[in-house]
Amino acid sequence: MTDAIAPGEGTAGTVGSVVRTCIGCRERAEATTLVRLVAVRGTTPVAVVPDPRRTMPGRGAHLHPDPRCLERARQRKAFGRALRVEGPLDLDAVVAFLPPATNHPGPPSPDRNRSTRS
Ligand SMILES: [Zn+2]
Repeated sequence: MTDAIAPGEGTAGTVGSVVRTCIGCRERAEATTLVRLVAVRGTTPVAVVPDPRRTMPGRGAHLHPDPRCLERARQRKAFGRALRVEGPLDLDAVVAFLPPATNHPGPPSPDRNRSTRS
């Protein structure tokens, strides 16, 4: 009998389809579609900075490049939990990195009920 090698979960050496969980909306997505965030220690408050190249050492958190996910992560204090940081965090760099929140005003009201009679 040969030992069957069970495919490990999350520890497979396959590169290219790494799935991470967005700390904002908790949805799983490919790591390449998420922004990696790392905490820069030694500052007060601890600064959280984006790591788009994913080359910075340390523990990383992943977030959709979406201000709404950032807001949700902030509200649930997911940064501190994901990055193992206690106390206040400086998220200015992350806010600056993400695109500004878009206020979708919605489609212009269709004028289909316009009265043509006068
Ligand atoms: Zn998200």
